[in-house]
Amino acid sequence: MSPGQTFIVIGLGKSGSGAARLLSRRGAHVVVLDENPAATLPPGLSGVELKAGPFPPEFWKGATAVVVSPGVPLSKPELVAARAAGADVYGEIELAFRTLPKGAGPLLGITGTNGKSTTTALLGELVKQHVPRTFVGGNLGTAFTLAYEDPTEAPYAQHVIELSSFQLEGVKDARFHGAAILNLTPDHLDRYPNQEAYGLAKTRIFEGQQPGDFAVINADDPDVVMMSRRAKVPVYAFTLDGQRTNPGFAGLVVGSGEKFIFTFGAPSVFTVTNRALRGAHNLQNAMAAAMMARLGGIPDAAIQRGLDSFPGLAHRLEFVRERGGVEWINDSKATNVDSSLVALKALAGNVLLIAGGKGKGAPYAPLVDAARGKVKAVLTIGKDAPLIAAAFAGVCPIHDCGTIEKAVSQAAEISTRGDVVLLSPACASYDQFDHFEHRGDVFKALVNSLGERPSRD
Ligand code: ADP
Repeated sequence: MSPGQTFIVIGLGKSGSGAARLLSRRGAHVVVLDENPAATLPPGLSGVELKAGPFPPEFWKGATAVVVSPGVPLSKPELVAARAAGADVYGEIELAFRTLPKGAGPLLGITGTNGKSTTTALLGELVKQHVPRTFVGGNLGTAFTLAYEDPTEAPYAQHVIELSSFQLEGVKDARFHGAAILNLTPDHLDRYPNQEAYGLAKTRIFEGQQPGDFAVINADDPDVVMMSRRAKVPVYAFTLDGQRTNPGFAGLVVGSGEKFIFTFGAPSVFTVTNRALRGAHNLQNAMAAAMMARLGGIPDAAIQRGLDSFPGLAHRLEFVRERGGVEWINDSKATNVDSSLVALKALAGNVLLIAGGKGKGAPYAPLVDAARGKVKAVLTIGKDAPLIAAAFAGVCPIHDCGTIEKAVSQAAEISTRGDVVLLSPACASYDQFDHFEHRGDVFKALVNSLGERPSRD
């Protein structure tokens, strides 16, 4: 881009603001369109023009490009019209790619329905062991457009980027040296006509790849295997199935228990004993991250160091405290039944489960199946408490707590040495909290304020 060019930015969320800031700091004339008539420019966007309300007709005329926020689907009629009229329409990841400074290192991209943030943060940890100047962000943390918000920022040697399907929709030429797809389960079907369309958006991660690049995928997920056929580069796969052989892959990594083995290149075994990475799902995340790192040139010793030092992400099976032989875990990010299932599978047993909130209409029966023999008691909170209590009736004792305060004090009361108190609500938090982070923070504060007490055996 050159100064003086006009860019239209659609949407004023985190990414849209990032895009507008990047462009205006490079001297572009930026017009932000936001359909919310009450939208206002956040501070620090001086010189940017905001047009709130319905898009003006032919809004793309005279603009170098139209940069679309991930919250706005490219199927929106105004954007379809803009593209049909020949406008260059793309998303903020593409913008960040196109404005990378000279000397910027390669991009490693991670997508999937679940585990993106964990894998991205973990890959960042692995890469930084060897390449300290690594940018980690995208959908997680700092928007990619803000990596070089300051045009004088020195280039990063590596970029580890979390990508949502919404962000990938707007990718055109962005080149990911390594591209990982972790899994695909039904999600965002309010935005996509079907699961296939949702998966197709994710395959755009392969779009700009070139010879020398690589893809990393989950061999155990048939949808992802199908999607990987769109990759034009060698596809490496990870699996939890020790019997799996698949000649279609350039290489296979096999995980089991607390370790995984590379069956290609130098035969290396990595161990995953870090408490922040417990559960089979985290073994998959660890395999994906380690493959991306190794194929991206990170030495094995650095990868193992990073696997051991990864602090984990807040609200995802987050260890809070051990108190009188009882472990307390915050899994507030589990806002649906599937996520709580993943948490229960990751734990060995003696679980006191705190669950409930604003449910999403999915049945709780699968949770009950996973809980048999593992969950000692359920402590219910929030709106869906009666539904959860009904599902667990006869399976284990149920404590109708109503609030998280009551649930924590009750769990402290009834737990005994060797127990695990798990907040994994299987529900959204909006009935009682601002968001899942708020719920998790309240939980942690309550747990940390419990006085020391000798445990009862
Ligand atoms: P995302 O960024 O894709 O939402 P996170 O890393 O924040 O993913 O994890 C969110 C939740 O998804 C976790 O709390 C866990 O329940 C579940 N999860 C994480 N990794 C996986 C995985 N590899 N497969 C299935 N579920 C996973």
